[in-house]
Amino acid sequence: MVSDELDQQATAFEIPLPWQLAAWGRLAQQFKTEQLAHAYLVCGESGLGKTMFVSAFAHFMLCRTPHQQVACGECPNCLMGGKHSHPDIWQIGPEEGSKDIKIEQIRFLSEFAIRTSHSGGAKVVIITQAHRLNANAANALLKTLEEPPNNTYLFLVSDLAGRMLPTIRSRCQRLFFSAPSKSEASQWLQVKLGLEDIDKLLLASRNRPLLALELAATGALEHRQEFLAKLGELARGQSSIDKLVNLSGKIGEITALGYLAATSTILIKCMLTNQRPDETDQATDALCSIFDAKQLPVQALVADLFGFFEEVQTARGQLIAGTNPNPQLIMESLLWRWSMLQ
Ligand SMILES: [Zn+2]
Repeated sequence: MVSDELDQQATAFEIPLPWQLAAWGRLAQQFKTEQLAHAYLVCGESGLGKTMFVSAFAHFMLCRTPHQQVACGECPNCLMGGKHSHPDIWQIGPEEGSKDIKIEQIRFLSEFAIRTSHSGGAKVVIITQAHRLNANAANALLKTLEEPPNNTYLFLVSDLAGRMLPTIRSRCQRLFFSAPSKSEASQWLQVKLGLEDIDKLLLASRNRPLLALELAATGALEHRQEFLAKLGELARGQSSIDKLVNLSGKIGEITALGYLAATSTILIKCMLTNQRPDETDQATDALCSIFDAKQLPVQALVADLFGFFEEVQTARGQLIAGTNPNPQLIMESLLWRWSMLQ
């Protein structure tokens, strides 16, 4: 899952990250004036460091001598928290090998919530991938959300908050993260990566800096180029669906569907505005040329691409949520649709 591993390496980055500063400042002020809500839904796309943010904020809340709205890193609470094991912070998410957050995990969480604080201050519950709460777990969590114990704060983190029960969402205050501007993301990445090709990384990650880092580390940029090149070959009838299905298996179907979705939106935009993609994006530019050369009626093509985009998004959502067990079949069917678009 994108950026989960990065999220766990919270100490590798200085939190708050530049694009999180405003949210951090607001929350820190609410904490200082004792106006913090009992439950927050921390939502927005992956690759923005939401879990890192929450984890660092939890440590800040427990810090005895914070400096300018940041944990000191030196007090007994900070030193304990530095090992990710502070007894007043309880973090859960789907356990290894499981798609869901289960009711047993919520039972432990509820016990933690009513327990006396170890250090005499606040207690913090963090639920990562909160959209994966199964029905029983979600119902059990509702009880804690309805009657939050004093001085206990819950942070539910999710990239797919729309999939959560409305009853859970409505009991949380929303803390929404969006991608920073290209220049802000670029500045930060340049410090991290030096001479890497920042523009291409930002384009592929849609300005999500942590995702861009991950793409750089895993060579995913080359995968994207290869995937888009093969999409072009398929559109020209020079490649087979099988080849792309195999490539999707190699790079991961969820990632491949992400490329398909992003590519369709760029193509739609290009057709509607009669402009070409960003000059750094040669792979998508090549696809645009293929569509242009066919000289089809723009409106019909755009409508087709919209329909295709929606199908891709639905399929991607199903794969992420684990509700469709056959990624290969999904890819076959969508690539067939793609080959029929023109
Ligand atoms: Zn401290």
